[in-house]
Amino acid sequence: MSDTFTIPADEVTGRILVVDDTATNLYILSKLLARSGYEVYQAQDGAAALDMASAHQPSLILLDIMMPGMDGYEVCTRLRAMPETAHIPIIFLSALDSSVDKVLAFSHGAADYVTKPFQPEEVLARVRHQINLQLAQRQQQYLNAELERRVQDRTHQLELAHQQLLEVAMSDRLTRLPNRLSFVKQLGNVMAQAQIEPEQHFAVLFLDCDRFKRINDSLGHRVGDQLLKEIASRLTRIQHSHSTVAIIARFGGDEFALLLTPLADRQAVVLVADEVLTALAKPFALADRKIFMSASLGIVWGDASYAAAEHLLRDADVAMYRAKDCSYSQYLWFEPAMHNRAVHLLQLETDLRLALERRELEIYYQPIVELCGLRIVGFEALVRWRHPTQGLVFPGHFISFAEESGLIVPLGEQVLEMTCADIARWERSGAISPEITVSVNMAAQQLLQPDIVARIHHFVETAGIAPHRLRLELTERSILNNHAFIDGVLRALQHRNIQLSIDDFGTGYSALSYLHTLPVDCLKIDRSFVQPMTARPDSLGIVPLIINIAKTMNMQVIAEGIETITQLRQLQQLGCEYGQGYLFQKAVPADVAIALLKRPLIAWTREASA
Ligand code: C2E
Ligand code: MG
Ligand code: MG
Repeated sequence: MSDTFTIPADEVTGRILVVDDTATNLYILSKLLARSGYEVYQAQDGAAALDMASAHQPSLILLDIMMPGMDGYEVCTRLRAMPETAHIPIIFLSALDSSVDKVLAFSHGAADYVTKPFQPEEVLARVRHQINLQLAQRQQQYLNAELERRVQDRTHQLELAHQQLLEVAMSDRLTRLPNRLSFVKQLGNVMAQAQIEPEQHFAVLFLDCDRFKRINDSLGHRVGDQLLKEIASRLTRIQHSHSTVAIIARFGGDEFALLLTPLADRQAVVLVADEVLTALAKPFALADRKIFMSASLGIVWGDASYAAAEHLLRDADVAMYRAKDCSYSQYLWFEPAMHNRAVHLLQLETDLRLALERRELEIYYQPIVELCGLRIVGFEALVRWRHPTQGLVFPGHFISFAEESGLIVPLGEQVLEMTCADIARWERSGAISPEITVSVNMAAQQLLQPDIVARIHHFVETAGIAPHRLRLELTERSILNNHAFIDGVLRALQHRNIQLSIDDFGTGYSALSYLHTLPVDCLKIDRSFVQPMTARPDSLGIVPLIINIAKTMNMQVIAEGIETITQLRQLQQLGCEYGQGYLFQKAVPADVAIALLKRPLIAWTREASA
């Protein structure tokens, strides 16, 4: 501590009361002390001494022992008995010089003892000593008090800081709503209460704004923040009109949570959920425009069966995601089956990551056949997962999940790498003629990587294959959603001689006016249009139309999912050039696929259908 402590001036003065029945002594002592700067009070007997002592509170008393009436011992005893004088040090003055007397004096509480006739220097020295002693004591007391005060000060400041920190830690800065921590704490209390009173019910509503990112991306984060604040205040208004809403918290991002308790039945929850969805569906007036928003809600009915707040929140989260999956702007109650699905997805994610690391993916090839000449013109590479316990897993079980989780990007790269390696092997062995192409499916996320053209080029170069062998299959959706960027990518790929097909044609948005400007070589008719085709002309659906579109746009057309001879005949008659389907061959491992090239088509179609 850098500060020094000073004692207030009036605390260090020396006020001395001299008590002696002999006037001469009184006079000499008073003079002696006054000359040394002390303030002196006099008393000639015990009674006067007691009065003066309590009236003036001297710093020290010089007290004669032998006095008529009340002697010094008696005065001393009485002074000690009075609270206001009990602490004043006393120096006894006496002609008595035996050690017995001195001991007696000290046993009465004397601070010191001076024998008469006294030496002025000795008296002064003893007085000074006592005063200094007192001063030191006072200083010590003062110091202690000061320290105590500072400690209290600091403690108070710390408590304030702690309180502020706690507030910061428990609330959301942007909306001033309680935050997740605060919510979990309160939920924990409600859950603990439910353990004691199992009939006490409660519910958690987990809210996530639909497509909030769109607002941030298009109008900027400042507007996004304002919108979140406005959402918070609409939710707070709902809280004010429903006593069951115990707390509303913002969990971060566009996520909010409500805790409802106590509840008699689920109807009370539905009421609040409806009100929340209605409140958020009303337009928000921000940045000089009307913004429309909606939210999805996951609801968990809370009871004593839940052991941890986090479990409950996890379930609410799962229900919320399901609500979003089903349709935007709705609520969904959590059901245990949802949890199983979430656990399954989590496991799938771990497994798929491992699969990529351990390279458990395999490429199967399905022949693409020229429908007139019935000869193989190419293959479609279709990924399979050789799962360590489940055997061969088909893409239907993991591709859409890989797209959701972003794993489609590394997965797609592995597929491309393996396919290029197979093509290179086939080229080297002379197994494929120059016109054979191999199609690889590409997800939208892959195409959106900034360096996608360089990446694809890298795989082609590394394998050392002719770029025209590779045909990338893109879905309509992935092209149309990201128009400008993809357009550039496709042109760059075309420039590098890589071919492009539109997969599952007819199932997307079919913005034909746009499609015909794209550098695409081929349309693939989705099998959902091919499979209903029978001998009856009204079963053809839009297949003839798609074939015509392809021809008008100068594109090739491939029909997918040909399973019957009838479908083949119909497609041939409609002028569809190419096709693939179980009628010819299911997707097979690379070596099996390549062996098909050596045999006449009739032979292997017969084998396949046998
Ligand atoms: P797709 O690209 O439309 O591939 C055609 C799917 O139809 C393949 O299913 C194929 O086995 C199946 N198929 C072919 N002929 C017939 C038939 O006559 N009848 C029936 N019922 N089905 C037929 P698969 O291999 O299960 O692949 C399903 C989808 O998974 C693919 O549809 C594609 O969208 C996706 N996919 C497969 N491999 C990859 C990949 O490496 N990357 C990406 N992004 N997606 C892939
Ligand atoms: Mg495909
Ligand atoms: Mg397809």
